[in-house]
Amino acid sequence: ADIEQFRERLKGKQLPEAAQDKIEEELNKLSVLETGSPEYAVTRNYLDWATAMPWGLTHTDKLDIPRARRILDRDHDGLEDVKQRILEFLALGTFKGSVGGSIILLVGPPGVGKTSIGHSIAESLGRPFYRFSVGGMRDEAEIKGHRRTYIGAMPGKFVQALKDVKVMNPVIMLDEIDKLGSSHQGDPASALLETLDPEQNNQFLDHYLDLRLDLSKVLFVCTANTLDSIPGPLLDRMDVIRLSGYIAEEKLAIAKHHLWPRQLERAGLRKSQLRITDKALRQVIEGYAREAGVRNLEKQLAKVVRKSVMKLIDEPDQKLSIKPESLQELLGTPAFRTEKPLKGVGVVTGLAWTSMGGATLPIEANRVHTLNRGFKLTGKLGEVMKESAEIAYSYICANLREYQADTAFFDEAFVHMHVPEGATPKDGPSAGVTMASSLLSLARNKAPRTGVAMTGEITLTGQVLPVGGIREKAIAARRQSIFELILPEANRGDYEELPDYLQAGMTIHFAARYSDVAKVLF
Ligand code: ATP
Ligand code: MG
Repeated sequence: ADIEQFRERLKGKQLPEAAQDKIEEELNKLSVLETGSPEYAVTRNYLDWATAMPWGLTHTDKLDIPRARRILDRDHDGLEDVKQRILEFLALGTFKGSVGGSIILLVGPPGVGKTSIGHSIAESLGRPFYRFSVGGMRDEAEIKGHRRTYIGAMPGKFVQALKDVKVMNPVIMLDEIDKLGSSHQGDPASALLETLDPEQNNQFLDHYLDLRLDLSKVLFVCTANTLDSIPGPLLDRMDVIRLSGYIAEEKLAIAKHHLWPRQLERAGLRKSQLRITDKALRQVIEGYAREAGVRNLEKQLAKVVRKSVMKLIDEPDQKLSIKPESLQELLGTPAFRTEKPLKGVGVVTGLAWTSMGGATLPIEANRVHTLNRGFKLTGKLGEVMKESAEIAYSYICANLREYQADTAFFDEAFVHMHVPEGATPKDGPSAGVTMASSLLSLARNKAPRTGVAMTGEITLTGQVLPVGGIREKAIAARRQSIFELILPEANRGDYEELPDYLQAGMTIHFAARYSDVAKVLF
């Protein structure tokens, strides 16, 4: 009976000759084996997988750009540039007749809509969607399967995906590709490279199946929080699309059009039963969910709905409206407050960029005592960042006269510089100008102007070099209500490329040398 069922499954599929022969051989084997024997179970299991592969079956793409546009717009507010890139990509596919053989990489902080964009791509094409995470994957066998000689051997993820989606050209999303592990059980990164590479993956070999599969028609969409830890050869083959995070206005629109209605629907509530004012939404965004993405915002709104349902249960006919005043009771004390701009001698605001998105980075320095000279750094700084601090220190020490500071200041100053928060690891050279400014402020005993944030690498001769993440940093500054920035001159192009809504109301100073920075601050 098993045999008939397996043959039935193969009807209408186009198997390569090797696969045909191999499956035939196994079917013959099955027919002579005793039904209760262990070998029977092993062979049966193998055939179950091999015959379930969608050999030669493909789904015809719906390459309809206006329709794709509608789907992307329906599911996502904002993200104009991202949508544009994806439509261009689909348009190219229309031209070629298929979008296979490509790897898209969506990179950005958590909760900015990467997974959600992936879903929309699949839906636009009308292809089935399969998603799994490769984060923390250490064993090559999870990708390429175990050899059948192992007890409990299993095929790898890609074979499992094909069985599930039943066509050879699904959209497969690989999450957390920046968090691939590695171990003595082989290197998943190179196995993955082999699998994704359009040059080699029409001959993909899963160890368990031991048959060549053509993965070249799969559209791979990968997601990552950062590019840094993605193996170079893999990155080279990808079309990178960046999602940088949202400003408050965008979050408000996303919350109104997507997050809130979805929470209501989940709770089985009608729109009229539970409303939330724009003011209250703004307060949730500012006070409870100050992040690059909207994941936490979604959670907070879920909490608001959950708690409100309790009230509606008692009196189902009443209509509730959430106002800013109600939030304290529903969500507790706000985690973030509108901070006054940092102020004081030695205190300067930098801009940082991590896998969590952009952030402001306050830096403080203080003279601890005057017994001898010295310099101490804290704040869990990485190697590169420590070096930038050393450079900033040397540069300021050597140029006190130029900057109207006490030329003997550092001779009798033990200086301590700290980058809060102390527990968050930080690295990179982009805080160079910020650290120099903090030290200069100390040496001049003069507080720098407030409400200004900066980023830039500094060299020993006081040049300001370009840095990454300008867009993320601009968004972070807005989030903290900072509208005046100092950026490296060489980043002028990056800044000018930003959409208008990010540039609006901003005052930008471009600095080629540190003296340009000092002029703005003091
Ligand atoms: P992670 O890196 O943590 O996996 P992600 O980038 O994949 O995050 P998603 O899961 O896609 O984030 O998004 C989080 C939630 O926010 C989802 O419910 C998603 O629908 C919603 N969302 C994100 N961006 C938008 C947007 N621009 N418009 C509408 N909804 C959005
Ligand atoms: Mg995701």
